[in-house]
Amino acid sequence: MVFDLRPEIAAFRAEVRAFCREELPAELAAKVRAHRWLDKGERERWQRILYRRGWAAGHWPRAWGGLDWSPLQRFVFNEELERAGAPWLTPFGINYVGPILLAHGSDAQRERHLPSILRSEVWWCQGYSEPGAGSDLAGLATRAERRGDRYVVNGQKTWTTMAQWADWMFCLVRTARGERPQHGISLLLIDLRTPGITIRPIATMDECHHVNEVFFADVEVPLANLVGEEGEAWGYTKVFLTHERILATELGKADRLLADVAALAARVFEAGAPLASGAGFRRRRAALGVRRDALEALAYDALDRFERGEEPAVEAAALKIRGSELQQAISELAVDVLAHAGLGYDTGSIMDAAADEDLRRAETGWLFEHFYGRAFTIYGGTNEIQRAIIARQALGL
Ligand SMILES: Cc1cc2nc3c(=O)[nH]c(=O)nc-3n(C[C@H](O)[C@H](O)[C@H](O)COP(=O)(O)OP(=O)(O)OC[C@H]3O[C@@H](n4cnc5c(N)ncnc54)[C@H](O)[C@@H]3O)c2cc1C
Repeated sequence: MVFDLRPEIAAFRAEVRAFCREELPAELAAKVRAHRWLDKGERERWQRILYRRGWAAGHWPRAWGGLDWSPLQRFVFNEELERAGAPWLTPFGINYVGPILLAHGSDAQRERHLPSILRSEVWWCQGYSEPGAGSDLAGLATRAERRGDRYVVNGQKTWTTMAQWADWMFCLVRTARGERPQHGISLLLIDLRTPGITIRPIATMDECHHVNEVFFADVEVPLANLVGEEGEAWGYTKVFLTHERILATELGKADRLLADVAALAARVFEAGAPLASGAGFRRRRAALGVRRDALEALAYDALDRFERGEEPAVEAAALKIRGSELQQAISELAVDVLAHAGLGYDTGSIMDAAADEDLRRAETGWLFEHFYGRAFTIYGGTNEIQRAIIARQALGL
């Protein structure tokens, strides 16, 4: 089931679908569908294809290379890309720091950074979390002291996704201590080539390099790299939150995963019959489909309200919870389908069809999805924090 609310949205969806059919390189889509790791060059390649079509940042204003897409258009665009198996669009430039600069940056900052973000020439990472500040972000301790025409930054960030590939970081720092911990937090744009910065990988259970620790020792940052007002950055962090949580629904990806898990179950045999035809699998698959449809209804309701100028923060929190949980539940089903064959991460399959290279790859890919998927309910604000938002804002608790 796909909601198409208005004819122009249905036409836009069809256009995006046709574009993916024609322009999405088959080898990239095959890697995404097999849950393979994509390197920086592969991600850049797809983002540049979108740039050439004028779709690198459709939600940005036209004056800065965007198309003024509505939240609904943007959602449909992402949904279709996910469904087609397009590489995940790296959000740090286009979705995070770009909108912050559009809302709070200086003209000089916009002119310097937005064009290179649009063209995927410069990569960004997000320096918010610290060892003692995750959910409680206002507890961050990385300090920036003013000395003449510079700030001197000392401290540590953690869980910084893709810092190993990034050229720049948008970084929350403490410039003062206020009455409340949210006061005195500033946003700096930091060139990662500046002396005094050390980036170290954090090992994750899938054995890939997603995240890093970033250390700052007397790192000098020009005052001109302060975004907005000193000490006022707490409000800037909210620029993209509702929108990002709605996008975290990842409806198109859920559809792709559901189709793939059914295909996997059709190839795995138990007592001479494919698992896909067994009642146990069909019941679980159907229950996931119902959850997927409920998610779609909630997402389009939230988008409708967004388009009418409301801020559906509660719905966005619910979508983040339900979207991430659904993806985890689908990969859990795949791991159960694989059964004992799933024990062999990154090694050959021990299934009957061990000679079948496709199945071996499916096994490792699903485990990669399953392992990394533990993070879906943590990053972007943990699901417990989303539940607290719902409790406060919807239930008044
Ligand atoms: C794969 C991955 C990539 C990430 N990428 C980035 C990145 O690029 N940049 C960046 O800045 N950060 C990034 N993060 C960090 C992420 O934002 C934090 O992990 C997240 O905000 C949780 O913070 P924490 O890890 O400190 O856990 P904590 O905040 O210590 O939470 C631990 C547990 O306690 C629960 N908890 C905490 N407070 C409450 C509360 N008030 N009520 C109920 N339960 C609570 C949490 O839900 C969680 O279950 C990433 C994290 C992961 C896992």
